[in-house]
This record gives sequence, structure tokens and C-alpha cells, in this order.
Amino acid sequence: MTEFKSLGLSDQLLKAIEANGYETPTPIQKDAIPLILKGEDLMGLAQTGTGKTAAFGLPLVERLLADPRTPEPRGAQALILAPTRELVSQIAKNLVSFVRGTPLRVTSVVGGVSINSQIKRMSRGTDILVATPGRLLDLVDRNAVTLKSVSFLVLDEADQMLDLGFIHALRKIAALVSKKRQTLLFSATMPKQINELAQSYLTDPVRVEVAPVGKTADKVGQCVHFMDQKAKTDFLVSTLCERPGDMSLVFCRTKHGAERLMRKMVSSGIKAGSIHGNKSQSQREKAIKGLREGQIKVLVATDVAARGIDIPGVSHVYNFELPEVAEAYVHRIGRTARAGADGEAVALCSPEEIGLFRQIEKLIGISIEVASGEVPPASAAVSPGKGRGGNRGRQNNGGQNNGGRNNGGRNNGGRNNGGQGRGGQSSRSNDNDNAAFKPRGAKPRRPARRRTEAA
Ligand code: AMP
Repeated sequence: MTEFKSLGLSDQLLKAIEANGYETPTPIQKDAIPLILKGEDLMGLAQTGTGKTAAFGLPLVERLLADPRTPEPRGAQALILAPTRELVSQIAKNLVSFVRGTPLRVTSVVGGVSINSQIKRMSRGTDILVATPGRLLDLVDRNAVTLKSVSFLVLDEADQMLDLGFIHALRKIAALVSKKRQTLLFSATMPKQINELAQSYLTDPVRVEVAPVGKTADKVGQCVHFMDQKAKTDFLVSTLCERPGDMSLVFCRTKHGAERLMRKMVSSGIKAGSIHGNKSQSQREKAIKGLREGQIKVLVATDVAARGIDIPGVSHVYNFELPEVAEAYVHRIGRTARAGADGEAVALCSPEEIGLFRQIEKLIGISIEVASGEVPPASAAVSPGKGRGGNRGRQNNGGQNNGGRNNGGRNNGGRNNGGQGRGGQSSRSNDNDNAAFKPRGAKPRRPARRRTEAA
């Protein structure tokens, strides 16, 4: 507790920290909290599970408490933007625990649920508004929210917001927020566009980095099993059956694939659920709650649906299919070993995925241990969207505008709203069939490096 005390937080917040069970600050908290309290703009490079929500949430609440103001109708003092509904609800939950016992109010707005209740809630204003960009703009367009009084702006998981095509929404929102503000940007990875974004929206930002970009959580043990795509289901089902005590997340590339796999697990006696773009918000919440509370032991997910999920105790992350973009691997395995716990990340790699696998190794800078199978030759690699993982003949770019080509007929004019239901499209999912998202700046896949490894 003394360590949190030395960061400059008030007794009120120290109590909240204690109530949350946090004993010592995580590295990002140690670095970021004093800077944010001083009013600096900050660019935080931190992967998931590092405690970054508290790193910005605690000093934000502290600053709001130090300068009490009554929120103006439809307004907010602090605005936190995050890419997915799950992440918004996770952040809001954390913040609610920090403001308990204070007059501060936290409100969240996301797509996929009724906009009317959000309009009503925002009518009297709030202190901290946590939102997905699409739904927020909807509310602004309807004159239900004004951003004039926002003096703290937080962009969380900025790389994901870019990947999901939120750049136009972010520009629009930033233009509506007063220039006299403190801006904080957090991102797990550091593509070029994040630097550009930071240059446009932050003033002399201090950069805080807790793990080198693309490095995976230290405490995650990683291994790979090489096998044919067809063999993966039986392998995974039998592995999970042998380990009934584990709490596992399984990542698939497509929502149909995820659903099929989950059904196969259930029919094999595994307590499994799924979250992907075909599930309603309440179904997703139920599945996440089920895993948290132990009614299910395995959650099968697509990438976008799983962003922002914080489930303490996830012991294993299985990459049933490798993601199209290496950075997504870092996000996936960051779902385990959260806040100092240990975790295992197990990849199942088919010969066609060897190129993707090598890219992951290159990004994280380590050779992943081969647990079983023959290392396929580099020549087995298949280019994106061609015959891997049941996506034959159909390439979907995960919600990004690519000029109308190959995105499974879902080009929405350069803006994927991550399912936030602009204009009340509440049933729109926030992950496409091919849920692997590709950052715009992603380099084209290169041939796999040659490396000899023991099988
Ligand atoms: P985050 O990276 O913000 O998603 O946080 C990951 C998890 O770590 C959440 O479950 C937090 O409640 C938890 N956490 C955050 N800060 C600390 C801390 N100082 N000590 C222990 N757990 C923490």
C-alpha cells in the first residue's frame, strides 16, 4: 500500500485500491500515475493485462475529485474511448470501483443496446463517459451528447480502434473536444499510424512503455503443435477433456468456425460457450459471466469479440487458428497471465499457416517451443484468404475498408463501426466472418524464414 501512497494518490483512492485488492502498483501504474497527476499528455505503450486501466483511471478520478464540478446537461468532464463493447464495460466497471463513495458518476455508451436509455442517462450529464466511437457519434448527431466540456480524453487500445476503421470517428470526436484538455493514448502495439495519431492529438506527450512493442507477457509459456487443419478439432477436444480444471480461451478465425468448434466441444462433454459477432450482447455477457463464475470452462472466441475481456484466472489460451496478423497473437495471449499470474499459450499450426507462425515469432522475437508435430516447410504457406481455416474463396478483411475489394461484401464506406450500431443497427456484429483484423499499415506477408527446429 505504501507504494501506491508514494504515487501521490489521495486517501480516498488508496481505499478504493485496497478494496480492489491491489497491493503494489504495476510498472505502467508506477510510471503513468505521477505523470497524469501532473497534467501531462501521455502515450502509454502497454499490452493487455498490465493494469493500464487503473494506470489512467486512478489519476483521472483523482484529478476530477480535486476540481469538483457539476456536469452540464448532456456533457462529460472526461471521455474514454475504447474499441469494443466488452472493453468499454470492463473499463466502466473498473472506474465505478474507483469512484465508489464519491459524488462522481460513470456512464457508458455502446452499440448493440437501446440508444434511448443512453439518451435519457446522458440528459443530466456525467463526470466520466466511457464509449465506443460509433455509438458516441450517434448520440452527438442526435444532440444527446455534447463534448464541449470534456477536459480529459483517453484513447484506449488505440491500435485496435485504427484496425477497426474508427479513424474518421476519432478525428470527428477529437475536433469536438476542447483543445484545452489532457489527452492520454494507450496502445498495445505501435504501428506508424499510432505515432501519427499521437502527433495530431497529443501535446508534447511523455512516452511510457512497459514492454517492448510486440513482446508477449513474460509469464506466458508458449508452445506450438504442428498438425493438419483437419486434425485440430479432435486434438483440442481431447486435450481439453484431459484438463477439466483449466479455464481456457480458444481463438478461431471465423464466427462460424467458432460456433462449430464450441458445439463439438459441448457434444464431447466439455462445458463450453462462445462469443463472436453472431451473438447478441446479452449472449456475450452471459458467456463471459459463465466463464468467470465457472459454469463453463472453455470460451471459444473470435478476435474482435474477445478484445477487452478481462477474466482473472484464464490459465490457457489456445490459438485454434493463427491470426492473419501477428499483433493479434499478442492480444490473444495477453488474455492469460494477467496481472502477474502464470498462463500457457498453445498454438495449433497447420502447414498452410507456417508463414503466419514465422511472422509471430519474428514479432515477439522468440522461437516458440515445438511441442509436437513436424515443422512444415516454408513452401507450405498459403497466402491470406486462400484455403485456410474454412474460408475458401472468401477473403474478408475484418472490417477495414480496402477500396471495396474482397471484404465479403461488407464495405461500409471505409468505416466499420465495430458493431456499435450507428443509426440503431443494433444487430450488427462487431466481428466479421474472418475476424482476423489487419492493420492498415501491416506489411504484406513475406516468405517464411528458414530455420531448423527439432520437431
Ligand atoms: P488491465 O490491464 O487494466 O485490463 O488490468 C488487468 C487486470 O489486472 C485487471 O483484472 C485489474 O483489476 C488487475 N490489476 C490492475 N492493477 C493491479 C494491481 N496493481 N495489482 C493487482 N491487480 C491489478
